[in-house]
Amino acid sequence: MKQTVLICDWCQANPKFAVTSVTLSSGSGTKGGVRTLDLCGTHKQEIDRLFRSRSGTKPIHSHRPEIWEPRKNAILDVLAKEDGPIKSKELIKLTKIPQHALGTTLRALVKENKIRMEGPSTRGYNVRWVLV
Ligand SMILES: [Zn+2]
Repeated sequence: MKQTVLICDWCQANPKFAVTSVTLSSGSGTKGGVRTLDLCGTHKQEIDRLFRSRSGTKPIHSHRPEIWEPRKNAILDVLAKEDGPIKSKELIKLTKIPQHALGTTLRALVKENKIRMEGPSTRGYNVRWVLV
């Protein structure tokens, strides 16, 4: 018996069976082209995340305030004490915030209008930060 199975469009190395098909449409009917992806469970979750993260109503750190608030306060403390802009790598040293969490914390503070970037470099750990 010949059987046709759907394979995940996003799995490259080890194709998995697709568990669902997602369709992207732009709201103007089929004119703009409707795209369909067959996705495995993992990649379906990725798509779900993409749609959620742009909603703008729920910051990613909101569910763990006990972790993020002290980190934010540590950054604000250091920036208030120091004279002039501080590089990200200095912040890691002074605040003891884990490197992986620094970007999220900084972005949250920028969103809250408490700090901003300063200086020529806007990428990597040479970005400098000041209080707004
Ligand atoms: Zn996949």
